[in-house]
Amino acid sequence: AKSWILTKHFDGFPNDSNFELKVEELVEPKDGEVLLEAVFLSVDPYMRPFSALRMKEGDVMIGTQVAKVVQSKNSAFPVGTHVVARCGWRTHTVCDGTPLTPILPKWPEDVSLSLALGTIGMPGLTALFGIEEVLKLQKGETLLVNAAAGAVGTVVGQIAKIKGCKVVGSAGSDAKVAYLKELGFDEAFNYKTVGSLEEALKKASPDGYDCFFENVGGPFSTVALQQMKAFGRIAVCGGIATYNDKTQQTGSYPPLTIIFKQLKMEGFMQSRWEHKHPESLKRLMGWLKEGKLQSREHVTKGFENMPAAFMGMLRGENTGKAIVAV
Ligand code: NDP
Repeated sequence: AKSWILTKHFDGFPNDSNFELKVEELVEPKDGEVLLEAVFLSVDPYMRPFSALRMKEGDVMIGTQVAKVVQSKNSAFPVGTHVVARCGWRTHTVCDGTPLTPILPKWPEDVSLSLALGTIGMPGLTALFGIEEVLKLQKGETLLVNAAAGAVGTVVGQIAKIKGCKVVGSAGSDAKVAYLKELGFDEAFNYKTVGSLEEALKKASPDGYDCFFENVGGPFSTVALQQMKAFGRIAVCGGIATYNDKTQQTGSYPPLTIIFKQLKMEGFMQSRWEHKHPESLKRLMGWLKEGKLQSREHVTKGFENMPAAFMGMLRGENTGKAIVAV
């Protein structure tokens, strides 16, 4: 059994010296427990800020995986079934049922189980709840989303199109921008090469934006808020531009803009709507099967490459969901 340990808390951008690969003897499950074998593991932005809040040095890195039950002393999880397991960066895990969620029943054979970590999993739910519960996006409105070519952003844009909205996305490479157009985004631009962000946002939607799905934070937000329409709504989902900052975050949101435009901003975590997960996952799967939702993954092969996959995602190497295949 292998696991990745956080040896030292991150200080700025992560590097190899923050991680250590540990090899342990496999242990037998006791009554009520199962032995899991990881098939796909997720690398997510939240791991960077959560590590300081939820982990001690020497802990196994936090994270979710799709795993196969290979031994079972728990009748709820028979041998051979697949689960979504919040077990961290481990190849093998002995645990009871607490951190386990069964894969959505009737998972179609032609859909990779890895999507349970992406479009038909936590990031897909984040997109759905941000749009329906927080923004309450209405047909005909214009929505802006940043980090648009990533796991959450790609789903945000496509759901907004399903709902009959105009969608503008920003991403960090021309290839990502081309992919957003393929997905049906009305406008997309590369925020790294665009020159004036203000001009790009104005050009993409001269009348401004009703809704902003915020994944990035930092200077982008300051400019974007100024392009909101009066009474615009902002769902603050993430702030990846700030996660590696060494200093305390200072306010970058312009108060007078928020006041004069009477904007509404709401931070959220997808876990707030846990009771809606099964029904929502079914809806996402329905859209996928109908071809209304496309999904791409950035797959890194090999458990030994977990840190590289994680750091690559933070650097923007992924289009779609970043995962590791064991
Ligand atoms: P992504 O798949 O979008 O991967 C991260 C992407 O962020 C990179 O590919 C990169 O794309 C972009 N990025 C990295 N650094 C910067 C930067 N300095 N400025 C702008 N963009 C940057 O990740 P997810 O879809 O999983 O997550 C997107 C956001 O949603 C994150 O902020 C995350 O924390 C948040 N989130 C929040 C949840 C919640 O419940 N509130 C749940 C899940 C995610 P690019 O090439 O475009 O720069």
